[in-house]
Amino acid sequence: MDERREPPPEATDRAPIPTGIARLSPVQEAWSAYVNHSLHQCPTCRRVDGSPCEKAERLYGVYTRLANEGMDRLRQS
Ligand SMILES: [Zn+2]
Repeated sequence: MDERREPPPEATDRAPIPTGIARLSPVQEAWSAYVNHSLHQCPTCRRVDGSPCEKAERLYGVYTRLANEGMDRLRQS
């Protein structure tokens, strides 16, 4: 019985997203929350053949809403 341990899934070439270092805009925070969830935290979202879970869709919805609001603000100024 010689079960080898798989390397941890975090050992990819993706750089971790620093949190709490720089101040992020709400749009950036929403985006990083979505990316962190789907790339690091959620086994459902990390499955290649899986579709995003409900939480990922909610996080992505927050991001697109904030991004669209920001775009509207830019257009009006
Ligand atoms: Zn998920």
